[in-house]
Amino acid sequence: MHIPADTSIVILTGAGISAESGISTFRDADGLWMNHAIEEVAHPTAFRRDPALVHEFYNQRRRQLFEVSPNAAHLALARLEQAWPGDFLLVTQNVDDLHDRAGSLKLIHMHGELRRVRCLKCLQSHPWMEDCLPETPCPACGKPSLRPHIVWFDEMPMKMGEITRALSRCGLFICIGTSGNVYPAAGFVQQASRQAHTLEINAEETRIRSQFKETRKGLASCEVPRLVDELLGGMTR
Ligand code: NAD
Repeated sequence: MHIPADTSIVILTGAGISAESGISTFRDADGLWMNHAIEEVAHPTAFRRDPALVHEFYNQRRRQLFEVSPNAAHLALARLEQAWPGDFLLVTQNVDDLHDRAGSLKLIHMHGELRRVRCLKCLQSHPWMEDCLPETPCPACGKPSLRPHIVWFDEMPMKMGEITRALSRCGLFICIGTSGNVYPAAGFVQQASRQAHTLEINAEETRIRSQFKETRKGLASCEVPRLVDELLGGMTR
């Protein structure tokens, strides 16, 4: 692939890029947790009704991060960011920290982060590695008002202005391991395709496949390092 080196790149990743690290996608997990539909647990109403249950859902996920590591796909994207001379933005729907641990810096967690909590009273967010309970005090104001720093169903994803601006001027948009079921992320390809080459990498066919100019079917751990090698090898100035 020959892409001019001043091309602005935006990459969107979903649960599929972390699947080979051992983190289940929602579909693999059957969309259920302790007989609760995910939509029931990941919702502001659920947190108001039963904060202990919702904290436990995220505590389990946060604990799991100690057992997993970035895979070849996460590492390849960090390598691309370091070597690419043009603008670069990685947007992830994932709440795990595998892109961070791979070394990605120009990174937006549009659906929040498992390893952060924020206070509903003072609104400060804090890095968080431990379990969090309804009675856990906020490190800043001392109030027991912490919630997971996660974008729940019916809440607005983070940094949408910055993402929209990057999509509207990018020359290459790459979408990796996302099913295209969750909006607004599923609409990014349409936003970018007016001016950008658009490329999807997924292990299976997705419902938004036909909206991409190019699709590559395969595992992220194989396809992403191969694509990064192509981009860096074929760079023209
Ligand atoms: P999804 O579960 O709806 O879809 C995952 C996609 O990844 C599928 O299309 C599947 O075919 C593909 N896939 C699976 N393994 C792959 C692999 N090895 N290589 C390439 N593709 C692979 O996930 P989504 O589209 O990200 O949306 C679901 C929502 O769930 C998001 O909001 C996300 O925040 C959340 N979620 C996050 C995590 C995480 O942080 N790791 C895990 C589960 C769900």
